[in-house]
Amino acid sequence: MNKSRLAAMFLGAAVAGCGVELEQPKSLTFEEFKAQALHEEDDVYVVSGDTAVQGEDALREMFNEYLKTEVGDIAQRQDELALYRLNGIDQKYDSTRKMNLTYCVSSASFGSRYSAAVSAMANAAAAWEAVAQVNFIHASQYDSNCNQYQTGVYFDVRMTTTTSYVARAFFPNGARSGRNVLISTSGFTMSGPVTLTGVVRHELGHVLGMRHEHTRPEARTCYEDGNWRALTSYDSASVMHYPQCNGSNTGDLRLTQLDINGVRAVYGAKQ
Ligand SMILES: [Zn+2]
Repeated sequence: MNKSRLAAMFLGAAVAGCGVELEQPKSLTFEEFKAQALHEEDDVYVVSGDTAVQGEDALREMFNEYLKTEVGDIAQRQDELALYRLNGIDQKYDSTRKMNLTYCVSSASFGSRYSAAVSAMANAAAAWEAVAQVNFIHASQYDSNCNQYQTGVYFDVRMTTTTSYVARAFFPNGARSGRNVLISTSGFTMSGPVTLTGVVRHELGHVLGMRHEHTRPEARTCYEDGNWRALTSYDSASVMHYPQCNGSNTGDLRLTQLDINGVRAVYGAKQ
């Protein structure tokens, strides 16, 4: 599978997280910064995904800029993972909603795949619920009329035949019509280590406000934007990190200890 196809595998949404203050903010050294830049031919370095600079002197200037912004950013940071943050506001649920994330699973759209979809959602939700104060509730009475207009649930889960992604989700607090988890038919025929449940674990991370971990500079690729706040140190094995974006996870998508620390920093540990 090529990189662009892999990159399209999951959700296009972006989220970040919140946490606890880093006691010892740490910036990269120049050597670490240089090592993270993509070194192309003719002494060209690519930083931030798509910004090229030529020569080590230019790279050092970039590094000085990085230091200026990092100091300010880190002062705002809490323990990492990365939570969606827009205009300085964390995108997350309040104490009532986080325990009442109701959803339906469309029996009409999933058809023969309905049971598999119900199981994947339940198992994926359980992984987040086991570690943090969040609660997903399958309101199955709405499954026969489960769409983007169903107001009896917080979000709907439906099947799509798109080939652009395996699944996609949403970030907290959007309009009802946009609060959907869509699973492609391709999600039911995947081979390899990543399962449908693993993909949905990732998608529910977005639902809880988590951004792609690979948008962080340490990934050195797949940068999206800066609308996030670090919750933990960078985690190349995060459930929110695409393996194909310099990720280190070679198995199914699962919550790492840093993922657990991060979601707890936003919603609290499961009591
Ligand atoms: Zn995603």
